[in-house]
Amino acid sequence: MSYAQVIVFKKLGEFDDSLTYRIPKSLESSVKEGSFVEFPFRERKGQGIVASIVENIPAGVPEEKIRELNAVVRTDGIHPNHLKLARFIASYYRTSEARSLRLMVPKGLWEGAFEEPKTILVGSVAGITTPPRGKKAQKILEILSQAGGPLPLEGLKEQSGGFTADTLTRLVELGMVQKSEAPFFAPFDPKSAVLKESDKQLTPEQEEALAQIRSSDKPMLLLGVTGSGKTELYLRLIHETVRQGKQAILLVPEIALTPQTIGYFRQSFGDAIALFHSKLSEGERLKMWWKVRTGSAALVIGSRSAVFAPVSNLGLVILDEEHEWTYKQESAPYYRTHRIAEEMAKLWGSKLVFGSATPSAESFQKTSSGEYGIVRLLDRIQKTEMPLIHLVDLREEFKKRNFSVFSLLLQNKIRDRLAKNEQVILFVNQRGLANAVVCRDCGYTEKCPRCDIALKYHRFYQNSGFRSQNSAADRLVCHYCQFEKAPDLLCPECRSPYIKHVGVGTQRVEEEVKKMFPKARVVRADKDTTDGKTGFEPIYHDFLEKKFDILVGTQMVAKGLDFGNVSLIGIVLADVGLHQPDFRSSERLYQILTQVSGRCGRRGDRGEVVLQTYNPTHPTIRMAAEQRYPEFIESELRHRQAFGYPPYSRMIKFTVVGSDVGKLSKHIVAEREIIEDVAKANALPVTVASAPASIPKMADRYYYHVLIRSERPEILLDHWKIPKGWRIDVDPVHTT
Ligand code: ADP
Ligand code: ZN
Ligand code: ZN
Repeated sequence: MSYAQVIVFKKLGEFDDSLTYRIPKSLESSVKEGSFVEFPFRERKGQGIVASIVENIPAGVPEEKIRELNAVVRTDGIHPNHLKLARFIASYYRTSEARSLRLMVPKGLWEGAFEEPKTILVGSVAGITTPPRGKKAQKILEILSQAGGPLPLEGLKEQSGGFTADTLTRLVELGMVQKSEAPFFAPFDPKSAVLKESDKQLTPEQEEALAQIRSSDKPMLLLGVTGSGKTELYLRLIHETVRQGKQAILLVPEIALTPQTIGYFRQSFGDAIALFHSKLSEGERLKMWWKVRTGSAALVIGSRSAVFAPVSNLGLVILDEEHEWTYKQESAPYYRTHRIAEEMAKLWGSKLVFGSATPSAESFQKTSSGEYGIVRLLDRIQKTEMPLIHLVDLREEFKKRNFSVFSLLLQNKIRDRLAKNEQVILFVNQRGLANAVVCRDCGYTEKCPRCDIALKYHRFYQNSGFRSQNSAADRLVCHYCQFEKAPDLLCPECRSPYIKHVGVGTQRVEEEVKKMFPKARVVRADKDTTDGKTGFEPIYHDFLEKKFDILVGTQMVAKGLDFGNVSLIGIVLADVGLHQPDFRSSERLYQILTQVSGRCGRRGDRGEVVLQTYNPTHPTIRMAAEQRYPEFIESELRHRQAFGYPPYSRMIKFTVVGSDVGKLSKHIVAEREIIEDVAKANALPVTVASAPASIPKMADRYYYHVLIRSERPEILLDHWKIPKGWRIDVDPVHTT
């Protein structure tokens, strides 16, 4: 006797656990792991996915309660490899199998639409001599008799100028027309499909890289500056995969899903593409899902969640711009796309390629450890030069009593560009703005002596209930180890009184630039001037059409956009990123500085960047200014190793919420002690710290983070019961 463990679709409510059903003899051959099935549930019928088939009744399930499956809705619902993937996610990210499976099933399907889309065909019945009543009905028959075979309902409607369902029903009842069904999606056939090859001749460097990727059986990191021809290589690799009758998944950051990118691949693969992005309606998403599931799509292109597209014969996965933080899902189960892609590549034995100009420390480290291979593209295809970067020391400006947010050099260069009718971007880094404490005379920042990350400035820290001694309201706190101290009044380094938070907002920059250059047309792009629906696009187009001379903007102006007429970029205060209280602050800063700099001089003349900083000697800023990625990442990795940060350790972040802050902090402190005891009992070195979240209070509820760092945190998680209500983020990208 065998039993099916079934994960129930939503119609009946949300369940985390699977239910057990007996498989009747009549269904034994058709029920498989991954099948969609129907079963009795209380007085109703339910549907779900068979997560596993077992020979014995699972422990704790009373035999007399077990009922029989009614029917199989679809034998091959979820591919067995996706079930395995769900199991992996459940165990790695500490969530339920049901929740993991939901990542792979679109909402529409989960809520009951689990039948494959069909095309309804309408055909005429032979031997009708008397015409039906009604003009519409006569028209329908006329079209059908001319067609010489059944027509899809949609096409028939279009040709006849539309008709009601009643008209058609009447014709069916009269026996004059017949309805039938056909599959909506035809499977893609590589032998008969027309795949357009690229007409470009690969450069010797590209040829060499392609050969290396082809011959390696490891995941490959493709390190190449923008414009070095990475996308062209993706195209070739996808072609080879598709021609072998396999499917490929190309993942891009949401922002890179532009019509140009898509058009580039459409040219080659036509309709054999399934596109997944955040603007799809639920209905469209469901259709795309079936397009992949039925094998009608050979290539999946999409952002993060497209990694879960229901492929059945995967040959290749590519993560383009792999350093982008959007590859981490910032809600449960907080997966990182890289980890998922690795698992998929293992399950299917498919190729895996990560591409970037500034790969993440995690991926780069894996090339050193031998887990990934690496290939480089060092030259740009069109030999345009990288921009010239000027480093400006803001401490000197401060000494000259220039209190403007613009250095004299930047002012001069803006004036020059305005005179030449060229455009300028002023970039304002706004991450971690309010929390950094910097000396304006010498650039000193307060860091944790144990963890070497910026201390985070907290106002009214005593209210949080964590403080042990009595002290002033303001505290500097380390979010990784619980170290805390009072803010200094004088700089410990140079005794200057000008030690305080630094940070400049976009509004302030906009005001100053307007005052200084009253004739310039200035536009600002930040979260106040862009709305959620259209985002940055309208401003982007206006700026592209030269309706403005100067664009003042945050991160959103930094990514992937192509401005032909911009010849100067001002980075107003590079340091802001440097002082994020996060061990990845240097990596993020390097990436953002590289991206911003890449926005200028993309055609024609060489662009210029003015990078303003209080820390011109800081290695990250220096190496970013000189664009020395390999050197930067190697020193960054040495630093991470010295302080035991990922990828040399792992982190787990918990978010804990409560309305009584006193109770909440007591609870957290008590759990922290338990965690330390469990770690000790398992001889596992761990660091555990807790602190208020970046937004510590929302809607009368207090938010806290508990951060655990260890080489093997999974051992801790196996031995310590996560308290109810603690939200877990395994391998967090934002640690504070
Ligand atoms: P990346 O993805 O690294 O930014 P792309 O693949 O988009 O680079 O290439 C940059 C530009 O060079 C594109 O316009 C592309 O069409 C062109 N290109 C790429 N490879 C070649 C080649 N071998 N010959 C001619 N043009 C090429
Ligand atoms: Zn100082
Ligand atoms: Zn610390």
